[in-house]
Amino acid sequence: MPRKIAAGNWKMNGTAADLDQIKALASAHPSPSVEILICPPATLVAHMADAAGPIKVGGQDCHAEPSGAHTGDIAAPMLAAAGATAVIVGHSERRTDHAETDAIVQAKARAAHAAGLTAVICIGETLQEREAGTTLSVIDTQLSGSVPEGASDSNTVIAYEPLWAIGTGKVPTLDQIAEVHAHIRAKHTDLAILYGGSVKGSNATEIFGVPHVNGALVGGASLKANDFSPIVTAL
Ligand code: 13P
Repeated sequence: MPRKIAAGNWKMNGTAADLDQIKALASAHPSPSVEILICPPATLVAHMADAAGPIKVGGQDCHAEPSGAHTGDIAAPMLAAAGATAVIVGHSERRTDHAETDAIVQAKARAAHAAGLTAVICIGETLQEREAGTTLSVIDTQLSGSVPEGASDSNTVIAYEPLWAIGTGKVPTLDQIAEVHAHIRAKHTDLAILYGGSVKGSNATEIFGVPHVNGALVGGASLKANDFSPIVTAL
């Protein structure tokens, strides 16, 4: 069985004042039965790792190179040294805002592996692609282009995040989630597959009941311990 993960992506939110949320989450789940991973902005990774107790901490992106002249970028070994155990790569916001291709995402996932981090590789279709009926072929292209050789349950997680469900309050039907997750499972039998896009406490239980959903990657509802805790409990 793949690992089960309740993951939070704080995106470009949070300062040291918000570390109270991680402390509250840690005290609500002192010995969690599933993995809890929070990916704050890079400025908070080390602080959060100190305060997180049983909760794992991750980055939101890394460079493909381990060091060098790349102003503003962060290397995977730096995240590891700051206490991260994982890093999100290929989030659709990075693919869109920073023109990241599958090849770039794959190189970043390799860099994560080399640094001993779990790569949380994000994939997902746009609304136009879904309406055009090309969702599964988009997923196939992203999977074959983004997942590096040597990916295993111990170093790689797939996050299926339909772009039209991110931050919109729109969630695919359970059948739509099931179809994509089964499709991914057929290719990656051992990897955890997370669903992401408008997950909240009120819909987590039904989403986690879908076959081959091994957890969630949560944006907005991961910012407050009171919102995220019920999602952890539902898993
Ligand atoms: P929301 O949960 O805010 O829709 O964001 C999902 C996401 O993009 C997580 O990476």
